Amino acid sequence: MPDCIFCKIVRGEIPALKVYEESLNLAFLDINPSSLGHTIIIPKKHYQKLEEMPEEEAKELFSVIFRLTKIIPKSVGTTDCNIGINNGKFAGQEVPHLHFHIVPRFERDNGLPIQGLVRMEVKKEDLPKIAEKIKKEIEDSEVFKESEKSEEQKKEKSEEIKEESTKSSEREWQEFNLEEQDKAPNYSEVRREEFY
Ligand code: AMP
Repeated sequence: MPDCIFCKIVRGEIPALKVYEESLNLAFLDINPSSLGHTIIIPKKHYQKLEEMPEEEAKELFSVIFRLTKIIPKSVGTTDCNIGINNGKFAGQEVPHLHFHIVPRFERDNGLPIQGLVRMEVKKEDLPKIAEKIKKEIEDSEVFKESEKSEEQKKEKSEEIKEESTKSSEREWQEFNLEEQDKAPNYSEVRREEFY
């Protein structure tokens, strides 16, 4: 796409602080970072939204995100991050070239979890109806049928996962209290100073 700013980065027509590049995908620092190490990961080919992409290419892209998740937070001195796509204009997408954000998160950085993005009022009693609707859409759609692995393979994998989950040690998760988070002092400036 000639006018797409991320396509221009791919073609080298405008500069970017690239951190990883391979034949299909590219990662570079966000020009207006939400946190230290905020990185954008894109497929080099222009798609606007995730669902436009062929599944094989989406797997390649996700594999890059998976690997970068092991590296980016650590390289800026933390352990955690948010990973997300603003997938479409209602979801806040500004650059119409599919991209993932990896946003490193720091203790008491005053940010919100992904659930803080939007708070629509959804009645609890409507949840079963919504679940049924989604399940029916899945059954009627070709999307899952196309990429389905054999049932046998899936069962094996599910047994492995069950075994693993009983072995893995429990992590102590922070209790999120949004009101308290709002009041928490902002340590991100201090952290930035420490980093540089
Ligand atoms: P969104 O489309 O809402 O997911 O956000 C687009 C992101 O791209 C924003 O976080 C911008 O700061 C970032 N961005 C826009 N232009 C550039 C650029 N030339 N280089 C790096 N990041 C950019």
